Amino acid sequence: MALALHLPSRYEDETELLSIEEAIHQGRFSSAQTQGVVIRNQVLFRPRRQMVVTIEDETETLNLRFLNFYPSQQKQMAVGSHIRVRGEVREGFQGSEMVHPTVKAVSSDTPLPASLTPVYPATAGVSQAAIRKAVNLALRDPSLQESLAEFFPHQLMSELLPSYDWPNLMEAITYLHQPPADANTQALLERTHPAWRRVQFEELLAQQISLKRAHAIRRGRQAPTFSKEIKKGLGIEAGLLAVLPFKLTAAQARVWLEIGHDLAQAFPMNRLLQGDVGSGKTVVAALAAAHVMDQGYQAAVMAPTEILAEQHYLKMKEWFEPLGVKIAWLTGSLKAKEKRLAQEMIESGQAQLIIGTHALIQESVRFAKLGLAVIDEQHRFGVRQRLEIQQRVGSELFYCHQLMMSATPIPRTLAMTYYADLDVSVIDELPPGRKPITTKVVKASRREEVISGLHSWLAKGLQAYWVCPLIEESEVLQLQTAVESFEQLTQALPGFKVGLVHGRLKSDEKAAVMAAFKANEIQLLVATTVIEVGVDVPNAALMVIEHAERFGYAQIHQLRGRVGRGSADSVCILMYAEPLSMAAKERLQTLRETSDGFVIAERDLSLRGPGELLGAKQSGDAMLRFVDLQRDAWLIELAQKAADRLLADHRELVERHLERWLGSRAEFLKA
Ligand code: ADP
Ligand code: MG
Repeated sequence: MALALHLPSRYEDETELLSIEEAIHQGRFSSAQTQGVVIRNQVLFRPRRQMVVTIEDETETLNLRFLNFYPSQQKQMAVGSHIRVRGEVREGFQGSEMVHPTVKAVSSDTPLPASLTPVYPATAGVSQAAIRKAVNLALRDPSLQESLAEFFPHQLMSELLPSYDWPNLMEAITYLHQPPADANTQALLERTHPAWRRVQFEELLAQQISLKRAHAIRRGRQAPTFSKEIKKGLGIEAGLLAVLPFKLTAAQARVWLEIGHDLAQAFPMNRLLQGDVGSGKTVVAALAAAHVMDQGYQAAVMAPTEILAEQHYLKMKEWFEPLGVKIAWLTGSLKAKEKRLAQEMIESGQAQLIIGTHALIQESVRFAKLGLAVIDEQHRFGVRQRLEIQQRVGSELFYCHQLMMSATPIPRTLAMTYYADLDVSVIDELPPGRKPITTKVVKASRREEVISGLHSWLAKGLQAYWVCPLIEESEVLQLQTAVESFEQLTQALPGFKVGLVHGRLKSDEKAAVMAAFKANEIQLLVATTVIEVGVDVPNAALMVIEHAERFGYAQIHQLRGRVGRGSADSVCILMYAEPLSMAAKERLQTLRETSDGFVIAERDLSLRGPGELLGAKQSGDAMLRFVDLQRDAWLIELAQKAADRLLADHRELVERHLERWLGSRAEFLKA
């Protein structure tokens, strides 16, 4: 079954054989297949070692060029042999040629295949021919017929699906492996063919059913129940509310109620707190933490980067330490002794609030009494890692409540699939006094102009960020350009203090620079993307991003969210270097036109696919192999309804279906 579900990614049409003359004309932009007799086979050494083979039929001759080749190929294509070749034709110096065509030894009457030739997703070390052979064997295996046999009554399918004219599963899979010569290749490639639809629907159905199961399982689990009452008198939550320098926005108050309601349930919360950059998620998380601490439990806050975790730590320390809360700080960069101390505090229950990075979910950590885990920027963690925290609770009977936070809205299709068992609270309102950010897109050649604008900006007593380009290939190069910009800007802006922060600094050095920036001892902060998340300096309302074309949607959106927090009008300047790819051009344009996180997330998803949003890349939990959430959105709804119907009326079909799909998936994950 697993092998049968290893479906082709595309097809080659080897059912048609052209004469060499026809191939030369038709093979310009798509590949063509032709055959002939080898009349010449030369190994040339200029400009580099290569093999040029010439074949001939009654109509024409054609050169085949191989830039690397094996002795076995020289033998296969020796003068006088008959070969069938397939490839694109181009005009070379010595006439028409194919570069690296696929070659098959034939006799002049070797029959053509009757079906399109499948090309399978590459598997390391296994050739296409070997996969094809194995798949063919698997398709003929009687046990496959049995395991793919139709068990959905036709009547039921036509009730579940608007116009049911899909093949059954066995037919669909056979068709996808061996489509007939006249198949609609476009629909096969785009995966919109009825045969694909059948497979996609079944896959989605399995996913919907298992999501509904997961939901039921979670509701059957035990978690500590927290009374909705705010503890009177010297409670932590009351204390926090009293010292907050602002009033919660209506949206914050609403989501806080939603979370409070979940915490009062006897099963674990699984809630996402979604709110655009700067919407004030931290204080909501702090209130939730205070609430469980007031009732004798620990709360943990985990963030994906040290700098973000630190930001939380500093903020929470400011809020909670005066209220007598014991806080533990745990990250990978701590010294062994400090780590051990933190772990002891966590394990003994002495620490009420625990803040840190991935270090929180390491083997050696044991929480004494964890009531709530807050996971910031949840999409940066894999599904696995989010589950890990549960393992650290130390009790298999009790689950902790989980609150995920993200600035990235979950598109509807994801909410209906991977995130179906996640309740979502949205902060859809920014704190009062926020100014919209004006975004400008500027060519790098206008750098001087930008710097002189920066000068007048700083002269007004305001501060600014200068973000250096992301260089994915090399951290050293990234650092180098940051240092160069830092030196140039220091020179160009006499009278102002310029600071530099980057990933190579130790965390106390980073903290010192950030503190100086916050205190306005530094006016311009040159930074690498380490400031991407969480940094909060209201007086800094201008941000220049160098080489903005190298950043993704989400990154710029996050970065830009650092400004627009104070009373000054905020500006973000996206500098770009030419040439600009179409994708980068569109990205910058969208970012200039909108700062709506939802629009940006949708664009982003259409570009990158859901893997990154999910963190599924690292988790191996991407259950949908054949479904594209965007292309097949309409199918999701159908599958959801079908899952409800089956769970209600056809339990036995549900079991068989899960067995069929998840059984094979389990096998697949092991591979
Ligand atoms: P994010 O949702 O991006 O994590 P933060 O929680 O860091 O946002 O909040 C951004 C800023 O807004 C912080 O300086 C925070 O103190 C401030 N803030 C949060 N809630 C309010 C509010 N209700 N009124 C005014 N300022 C607020
Ligand atoms: Mg935040």
